[in-house]
Amino acid sequence: MTTDAVYMDNNATTRVAGEVIEEMTPYLGELYGNPSSMHSFGGQVGKKIGQARERIASLLGCRPEEIIFTSCGTESDNAAIKGTLDMASSKRTVITTRVEHPAVLSTCREMEHHGYNIVEISVDKNGRLNLDELENSLDEDTAIVSVMYANNETGTVFPIERIVSMVKSKGIVFHTDAVQAVGKIPINLAELPIDLLSLSGHKLHAPKGVGVLYVRKGTRLAPFMVGGHQEFGRRAGTENVPSIIALGKACQLAGENIDDENTRIRKLRDKLEKGILATCPDSRVNGDTQNRLPNTTNISFEYIEGEAILLMLNRFGICASSGSACTSGSLEPSHVLRAMGVPFTAAHGSIRFSLSRYSTEDQVDFVIEKTAPIVNRLRELSPFVTT
Ligand code: PLP
Repeated sequence: MTTDAVYMDNNATTRVAGEVIEEMTPYLGELYGNPSSMHSFGGQVGKKIGQARERIASLLGCRPEEIIFTSCGTESDNAAIKGTLDMASSKRTVITTRVEHPAVLSTCREMEHHGYNIVEISVDKNGRLNLDELENSLDEDTAIVSVMYANNETGTVFPIERIVSMVKSKGIVFHTDAVQAVGKIPINLAELPIDLLSLSGHKLHAPKGVGVLYVRKGTRLAPFMVGGHQEFGRRAGTENVPSIIALGKACQLAGENIDDENTRIRKLRDKLEKGILATCPDSRVNGDTQNRLPNTTNISFEYIEGEAILLMLNRFGICASSGSACTSGSLEPSHVLRAMGVPFTAAHGSIRFSLSRYSTEDQVDFVIEKTAPIVNRLRELSPFVTT
């Protein structure tokens, strides 16, 4: 099972688009110049990086010089939080949410060891952020608020507009991890006064190992890699040229495809979800179904283990993922589902299907057809099913 996989794990990573590979390939081969060189052989590469910056800025509605290339979403998240705290002088509080990706949560918890006070805002049973709790937590000691745009596990999209205006009305720096949102839903930084935003190439059909930290002009942020003058002195080091060019192309394509993602992919996702819920009793959707990424569904199957379902789906070439993580030899339900208070028996049996522009209706039909017999078979074997 290689190329003919039924790939429904696009929140984990995506296929690099053919157009993207075509765009980056010359920069792996004959166009190998250093973009910082004075000669035109390197200079043409520098220009191409400039074009990538413009393409990304155009997708986000910001200025090219506000785009800082990084190695991944994780680096962008680390740089945003640590770089802000480095400049925040006496302020010692970081506010985030319980459902962030570990790239943010672990960064915050690391800062706790350095004497910072970390506040993690709760969510309700549908994964919606407790906005009153957030508002009441903001105070003069708050150095930064970091709230994700969209959740990687459930696809829940937070009301970022409201959150930003709440945080900015207090003059506090606002960062959002938009790794799952960029390219899937429109984002316009010209109208949304976000200070810092993270994105990652491999979630939107560019290669792994390239990301961006958007830094609004005027935001106080310590450089996160020192050395040469690259990335306006914020992030030194010779650029990952082919991947940056790839990301520029991927952002251009995402801009062109965003309407498609919001209609065609949403329809496919809804068909998949309805089909599974109709054929699998005791299953339910996790997350805020009114405010969700168009490509994601997270479904809990009561009384059975997500990993067992995944392994059986895998036999048919179906790639999905479960929220559980292996901790000390036992499977722990995801911190996101736990924060939502999803009951133990349901949280253990959760599966995330995440689609992309390459998903087809035939694939959706195939997954619906294969899932119910797998769930029924596992329930026959489950010690938790008593009837
Ligand atoms: N933030 C979110 C919401 C993610 O889903 C991911 C990856 O899954 C990351 C951050 C980390 O991105 P990267 O894999 O580029 O480090």
